[in-house]
Amino acid sequence: MSDESIFQARRRFLRGAASAFLGGSILAPTDSLAQDNDLLATLIDIDACDGCGLCVEACRKRSDLLVPIPEDIAKYRRRYKFVRDWSKGARHDDRSRLTPYNWLTIQKISLGSEKSAIYIPRRCMHCLTPTCAILCSTGALTRGRMGAVYVQEQFCVGDGSCTMNCPWYIPSLQPGTSSLLSVTKDASRMFKCDYCVDLQLKGEKPLCIQACPRGAMQIGPYPLMVKKAHELADLKGTKDIFGLTENGGTLTFYVSSIPLRELEIGLLRAKAIRPGLPTLRVHEIPVEKQRILSFVAATPVAALVLAGLRLWRDRHTR
Ligand code: SF4
Ligand code: SF4
Ligand code: SF4
Repeated sequence: MSDESIFQARRRFLRGAASAFLGGSILAPTDSLAQDNDLLATLIDIDACDGCGLCVEACRKRSDLLVPIPEDIAKYRRRYKFVRDWSKGARHDDRSRLTPYNWLTIQKISLGSEKSAIYIPRRCMHCLTPTCAILCSTGALTRGRMGAVYVQEQFCVGDGSCTMNCPWYIPSLQPGTSSLLSVTKDASRMFKCDYCVDLQLKGEKPLCIQACPRGAMQIGPYPLMVKKAHELADLKGTKDIFGLTENGGTLTFYVSSIPLRELEIGLLRAKAIRPGLPTLRVHEIPVEKQRILSFVAATPVAALVLAGLRLWRDRHTR
């Protein structure tokens, strides 16, 4: 998937947004993208995961090298005093939710006894129509040829619009990490799973998938994985495949012998749905917000003006 397709997707999204004003859905169904053989999709068999966490550790070995630790967070905190700093101590080491330093987490549902616990590995879904990237105010989020949606660090201003436009609020903010540190006090940047885009380009599998001793996650060409997802669902006697159509379709499919609705209820009961622990449903972006965001997305000049205003504001509040 080339960057050009992000623009195509943006146009499609904007068309969808326009139809939403007339009462339609904002997320147009994916069409040609879904036929692209370059795209790599992951199939996750929820029944096969035993929650060992080896995938999380494998991911952290790589992300720890990619996410900087800010030296002096205090100087950025005046504006961002309500923004959490994840870079130190227990927060830095937290594996129990998604954070800027933890791009993969395991949600746990207990069905009475420890033995019958269910574990769901969660990370960015790598959407076919990535609303986070389409509505990113600076174009920092993009999508690679094989479908990985990732943050280009040099363009991210950490305004968080990607998080607000992700159905699962996946991208996380870390203050003091921006490449724009020298020019702005708003020195935050967004972080999330990048689908191991560098490894994929070398023909290697993402580290989390390599690390799983139970083969709970498999990756392959999108059409093949759609077929495998249906086969696995048939085998389990279900029609539920999470990720196939959500947010216009994604590159991550979950299949479980337990109906997704029951899993969602289990997650709610276990209080395993909260910031950093995504739901198994999607939330719709309110129409009013689409209108504003569509304007920003459609006019790069508006994004530049916003960035200029931020710089001006910073200089005058230093
Ligand atoms: S899950 Fe969220 S962060 Fe990931 S690609 Fe989709 S919209 Fe973007
Ligand atoms: S694909 Fe890579 S970055 Fe994403 S969760 Fe797996 S190991 Fe982490
Ligand atoms: S390594 Fe495999 S079995 Fe272990 S938690 Fe991750 S997905 Fe589940």
